[in-house]
Amino acid sequence: MQTDVSLKPYHTFGIEVEARLFTEFHSLEELQTLLPTLRTTPFLVCGGGSNMLFTRNFDGLLARNCILGIHEISRTEKEVILESGAGENWHQLVESCVAMGYGGLENLSLIPGCVGASPMQNIGAYGVEIKDVFEYLDAVEIATGEIKRFYAEDCAFGYRESIFKSELKNQYIICKVAFRLSLYPTVNTSYGIIEAELERLSVHVPTIKDVSQAVINIRKSKLPDPSQLGNAGSFFKNPVVPEAVLDKIRTSYEKVPSYPAGEGTVKLAAGWLIEQAGWKGKRFGAVGVHELQALVLVNYGGGTGKEVYDLSQGIIEDVQHKFGVTLEREVNIY
Ligand code: FAD
Ligand code: NAP
Repeated sequence: MQTDVSLKPYHTFGIEVEARLFTEFHSLEELQTLLPTLRTTPFLVCGGGSNMLFTRNFDGLLARNCILGIHEISRTEKEVILESGAGENWHQLVESCVAMGYGGLENLSLIPGCVGASPMQNIGAYGVEIKDVFEYLDAVEIATGEIKRFYAEDCAFGYRESIFKSELKNQYIICKVAFRLSLYPTVNTSYGIIEAELERLSVHVPTIKDVSQAVINIRKSKLPDPSQLGNAGSFFKNPVVPEAVLDKIRTSYEKVPSYPAGEGTVKLAAGWLIEQAGWKGKRFGAVGVHELQALVLVNYGGGTGKEVYDLSQGIIEDVQHKFGVTLEREVNIY
């Protein structure tokens, strides 16, 4: 275990903070030996640190999950179940699946971070969420050391939500995640911009490799690369609001984008609301709102977590004032 460790290499916001204690675990056995410390010390488990904002030094133990290994568990004529260690890099897993012709993860290409965090907020992009291909996960209960298997119905997956972010927060450490992937994949190009990119690439009968490439191209064209510009992706969730709220916004903004979300509700695009409120591309010292994607807050270098947090608070209050919609942070704040 190391003491007073800079966390800059372990998260993607590029913020200079320290953890009082830091360690990595590479196996279930190593994790089991850590459990007594986790029961008595404030702790945080991380993968790639791409969904975190540290607003101060962390007065506890940051434990990085480095459990590796990808195994085929079973297969039928149509499907394969693939199990991955929580410490595997997410995009490398997607790339391997695409290369092997296993369909299901291709729309989730180029999402930073590790496999173990993917069920935490039921990661999603371009019309697919991991719940769509999720088979089970194995997690260690911190209080007892027992390994428990969770199937989809146990995880309470929702929009950027799971039971591990709510009811079971800080109670389990995810060690393995298994996915059910198709050997005869049908591609999902329902998200308009994918079709446009495939058209641009002159692809008329897309394979999962084409869809993955289209998603990679789109993401590279509009999202900042954390190795160049500190960020944690979308800082806010897209708000789901009653239709009446949309009707009210429409009286001033006829073309407000919205997507049906069931039971008389609609999903609004948080990035659109922030842009209309005038924040897109605005810089405040070392931090700001990305110029191509208003949903992404960035650290130009030397910014503090408090500055990013205060910026997010300013945005929440302004959007609330202008549209009557309360934005919720997606990034985990420490
Ligand atoms: P971390 O940031 O390390 O951890 C996130 C949370 O999970 C923390 O609360 C942590 O304590 C907990 N955690 C991590 N590992 C474990 C574990 N093994 N057991 C228990 N708890 C754990 N997200 C999307 O959903 N869709 C996107 O399209 C997307 N695009 C992004 C693009 C960019 C440029 C960036 C920077 C981020 C993006 N994200 C996106 C957010 C982020 O990459 C994902 O949420 C990712 O799954 C986080 O993985 P991580 O390993 O970095 O998690
Ligand atoms: P975008 O294409 O500019 O669209 C803006 C928003 O509208 C998206 O957030 C998306 O919601 C919604 N949307 C667009 N088309 C939709 C459709 N056909 N059906 C339902 N909802 C639709 O979005 P973007 O910011 O460039 O991101 C593209 C995708 O990558 C999105 O799925 C987004 O969630 C994901 N992404 C996530 C993060 C993150 O950190 N969480 C970061 C970057 C990108 P949804 O978000 O619900 O899809």
